[in-house]
Amino acid sequence: METNTPLIALMGNPNSGKTAIFNLLTGMNQKVSNYPGITVEKRKGTTLLAQNTQAEILDMPGTYSLTPESLDEKIVAQQVLDWMQEKEKPVAIISVVDAGNLSRNLYLTSQIMDLDIPVIVALNMMDRVKRKNQDINCQELKKMLGAAAVVPMSAREKWGIKELKQALTMIIQNKYTVDKCELKMKIPDSIIECIDPVSEILSQEHKYNEHLAKTQALRVITRKSALELYRDNSNLNAGDMETLMSARDDAILKIEEIGMNHRILEATIRYDMLDRALSKNSIVIKDKIRDKSRSENADKILTHKWLGPLIFITLLYGIFQSIFTWATVPMEWIATGMGYFGNYCIRILPGGILRDLLVEGVISGVGAILIFLPQILFLMFFMTILEDTGYMARVAFMMDRLMNKIGLHGKSVLPLMSGYACAIPGIMATRTIDNWKERLITILVLPLMSCSARLPIYTLMIGAFIPNKPVFSILNLQGITMVFMYFLGTITAMIIAAIISRFIKERGRSSFVMEMPPYRIPLGLSVFRQLFNRGKLFVINAGKIIMAISIVLWFLASFPKSESNAGVFNIEESYIGRIGHAIEPVIRPLGFDWKIGIGLITSFAAREVVVSTLATLYNVEEKGENVVGITVALKNDINQVTGLPIYTSLVALSLMVFYVYAAQCMATFAIVRNETNSWKWPLIMIVYMTGLAYMGSLLVYQGGLMLGFT
Ligand code: GDP
Ligand code: MG
Repeated sequence: METNTPLIALMGNPNSGKTAIFNLLTGMNQKVSNYPGITVEKRKGTTLLAQNTQAEILDMPGTYSLTPESLDEKIVAQQVLDWMQEKEKPVAIISVVDAGNLSRNLYLTSQIMDLDIPVIVALNMMDRVKRKNQDINCQELKKMLGAAAVVPMSAREKWGIKELKQALTMIIQNKYTVDKCELKMKIPDSIIECIDPVSEILSQEHKYNEHLAKTQALRVITRKSALELYRDNSNLNAGDMETLMSARDDAILKIEEIGMNHRILEATIRYDMLDRALSKNSIVIKDKIRDKSRSENADKILTHKWLGPLIFITLLYGIFQSIFTWATVPMEWIATGMGYFGNYCIRILPGGILRDLLVEGVISGVGAILIFLPQILFLMFFMTILEDTGYMARVAFMMDRLMNKIGLHGKSVLPLMSGYACAIPGIMATRTIDNWKERLITILVLPLMSCSARLPIYTLMIGAFIPNKPVFSILNLQGITMVFMYFLGTITAMIIAAIISRFIKERGRSSFVMEMPPYRIPLGLSVFRQLFNRGKLFVINAGKIIMAISIVLWFLASFPKSESNAGVFNIEESYIGRIGHAIEPVIRPLGFDWKIGIGLITSFAAREVVVSTLATLYNVEEKGENVVGITVALKNDINQVTGLPIYTSLVALSLMVFYVYAAQCMATFAIVRNETNSWKWPLIMIVYMTGLAYMGSLLVYQGGLMLGFT
């Protein structure tokens, strides 16, 4: 590639359509490499803009902000810093914006505007906006941002790309005009005063571009990660860094003195500015009158004070019924198919570690992934329909006040409810929540909703140890216990949501007054394309993690091999068995013995595994009446020392409460890693849920003992 080909960078939020636009621009002329030292793809390609005008396009990782937090964002922030040093600086930036989420997407655009590089806003996903009978005033938007051009387009429907190329050509030929920008970041004077010492130091680094130095100073003060970026990527030497750091500390003190939180300083100022600009200008043009009145009539019923919720609950019921019933059919096929395939491999392959790894590790890992697919697709199908018809906006509207009180969004309701079936599709469904914070909280508490994988444990424990006694003559103790477990998970999810919402920093908040789109008939093809993409994404991305965990668990459960008694392999001798024994002292206060300890560990793969592990440990034949067999075995298990039964009603309660809370599901873990794009959140989830599980069980067991229950 000649070095004098002008470089153009594609930037934007994740899922705004950068890659789609990149593909449209470059076609086959792509080159994929990795960023140095890490496995994030760096994609470059060439495009023919006009006769004799070529350009090189760089598809940057998705980012919500130039403040480096995630790995992807770090890469972007480093690259931007390089540009400021005139290293590989692009002649133009295409800021890809999801037109349906202007406020959140423009946050990044407004940061990019500060870089003094011509910016073209690719207003992508206009197909969706048009489908909602809305439009966006691109002239106004261009003026508001001070962009070189705003090009409405749809990468999916492949229109607007010609106009984008024209706009790029204009920039390369230096034939563009920028309106006087209304949106240059205006930092309040009181804050300028606090941050000036920091921007002074940075201004040398930024070639005395005062404005850029100020906005960068704001970022360095707001986030330590931005400071570290300068340490690693700039010309500032150790001495300069010292000065910078103490200037930062001073600035933080001053900012807190005037009553502002330095951690959300940049977000506060920028969103304030954006929201004001967006509400002042008539950027988003709402739908036509005719559609509106028809929709309004429908809304009289669908969002009616009590008819609305009633209809919603009925719909929900129908959806879950279908997830529970219809989805189980293909799930059985998958389970049976994987079983056949496993047996087939056992038949044709010679026995040994390799075969065991393949059958018990890999194939069962793949099975664990595929088994969720039907539920995901079913739920996604209904979600897409509800979203595309415009009904979801009504649900969000009805539930918003209530959900806001606990830091969630009206749109959190459906994903949370679907957690009763399975957390995985629920977590994927949170994508409809635009606001990052509300989405994250929904994801974090969703696994507390009692999913169907807990049912086998509840059924086993309740059937064996909770007496079938009538309560208040119409209810029944077993039924009440079951309902209580569901209730416990749900109420805890609400409480935890309210608590976490106080701790998570804002990264983008809902700023638009919620607008009701008119009701529409969804496009069949787009629904199915979305389904396909989601399904593929889940299988590939979550699959990698689930596979790795399955293999580790297989290894721990199969080694070391000690086939002492007649070649029968004993899980008690394995690493997992040893861990089970080792953690016995820790779990004894919960009423658990080492056998349950082993179950707790194997069921990290999936909760229901604890039942089959106990069956294995008690040597219960895996036949039809498995549950009955294991019930008897559990009831007969006697503590060698005390001579008392190991399992009592209290132990059963304690175990159930443990499983209400415990984060025992590798697929959830994988999907949370995927959807939040970091290991941090799944780890936080595991820690807090396991903590809850332990405390909950401890409270139940010790409390029960104190009250004299056994
Ligand atoms: P990136 O994360 O920014 O690279 O986004 P992608 O290019 O991977 O696109 C994310 C999703 O949005 C994909 O499912 C695309 O098919 C979809 N998408 C991209 N552009 C458009 C568009 O113009 N309209 C619609 N409706 N969907 C789009
Ligand atoms: Mg991409």
